[in-house]
Amino acid sequence: MSKKIQSVRGMNDYLPEDTAVWQRVEDIIKRVVESYGYSEIRTPVLEQTPLFKRAIGEVTDVVEKEMYTFNDRERDGEEVTSLTMRPEGTAGCVRAGIERGLIYNQEQRLWYLGPMFRHERPQKGRYRQFHQMGAEVFGLAGPDVDAELIMLTARWWRELGITEHVTLELNTIGSLEARANYKEALVAFLEQHKDKLDEDCKRRMYSNPLRVLDSKNAGVQALLNDAPTLMDYLDEESRQHFAGLCAFLDNVGIGYTINPRLVRGLDYYNRTVFEWVTTSLGAQGTVCAGGRYDGLVEQLGGHATPGVGFAMGLERLVLLVQAVNPEFKAARAVDAYLVSSGEGTQIAAMKLAETIRDTTPELRLMTNYGGGNFKKQFARADKWGAQVALVLGENEVAAGQVVVKDLRNGEQQTVAQAEAAAYLATLIG
Ligand code: ATP
Ligand code: MG
Repeated sequence: MSKKIQSVRGMNDYLPEDTAVWQRVEDIIKRVVESYGYSEIRTPVLEQTPLFKRAIGEVTDVVEKEMYTFNDRERDGEEVTSLTMRPEGTAGCVRAGIERGLIYNQEQRLWYLGPMFRHERPQKGRYRQFHQMGAEVFGLAGPDVDAELIMLTARWWRELGITEHVTLELNTIGSLEARANYKEALVAFLEQHKDKLDEDCKRRMYSNPLRVLDSKNAGVQALLNDAPTLMDYLDEESRQHFAGLCAFLDNVGIGYTINPRLVRGLDYYNRTVFEWVTTSLGAQGTVCAGGRYDGLVEQLGGHATPGVGFAMGLERLVLLVQAVNPEFKAARAVDAYLVSSGEGTQIAAMKLAETIRDTTPELRLMTNYGGGNFKKQFARADKWGAQVALVLGENEVAAGQVVVKDLRNGEQQTVAQAEAAAYLATLIG
């Protein structure tokens, strides 16, 4: 035997027992987001590296140390370009929106779902390939749509049975000018306490001082209790925008805490920022994070257009659902299992299964292969979790009938093959 090759560190296989849960979760979140009239957009996994540098910012963890970046292959007559495996979905979405004319002078409500790549230290809820579901809205500047995005996510939590285990943190980071004034005050404060800052914070103090606010260093966090707060520097319009958002949330009964340290570091983010956090997943507590980025479209070469969105980590969501909602049912792989034994019964079984699929396409019907006596075949039906067995012997085939056995209570009934699909539908919930 030759040496086994293993998967890439931090990149998971999702086996059938996992995908059964993922499919249910994805069905729910897609149905909900589409119930608000949002449409799916799919963009490539690879983009030109400068897109992420500009959209995410040079002085961020993601761009500084987490991106999978490499040069494209050389080909005659083509310039060699630097490519990056997308670490998040917003940049590609905005790039596509500008390039394909979806954004200029239009409203768009978009969602995406797909794998993202970041070279981080793998741990529970943190992987090198992970999945995000996100939504982005373009062309609407009011706090009403910010509220809608939050309402949409709150509906997800209800449908997934995790409402009691997530809380909403909210903040506003105001306008560019307000932040410029605030940054000055913050840097002045940090300069006075330089000795208490770690290396990352010292570096960011000048390049991207707002990022110091979300430092994970406990000492730095303690120091920040005495720092000036952004709320005191807010411009009047942002203040009103935020009051509007809070009023909408109050009205629809969505609770939140205002966290003045919740920030986005980059200039084109503004006003609303929010995070849904949980204490049920250890250190990886943020399930969903979003906010307004009215300057991003212009930053990426489009006409100035307001934008707001969020991204949710699916691995963390699935872990949370499994940790706190024991009622959550994974999709069943097999509803009914078709067993057969005797001369000519295998082909009869395969034909019967086809006619049942014609009329009942949503039924998950598995046909037995590889022979075996009835006992063996029933054991396979159990192994696959089937609720019902369909049984064909030579007598049934001759009579155009089939035995339908409810494996949950052992009751069985002989029905005409033409009636089998309708009868099955009454048994399977
Ligand atoms: P964190 O502070 O946990 O590193 P982040 O600020 O880097 O999060 P965002 O870029 O805002 O995260 O991504 C949005 C969401 O995507 C996160 O809230 C999280 O649920 C998920 N996410 C981010 N990075 C990872 C990862 N490496 N593995 C799994 N999920 C992730
Ligand atoms: Mg991160």
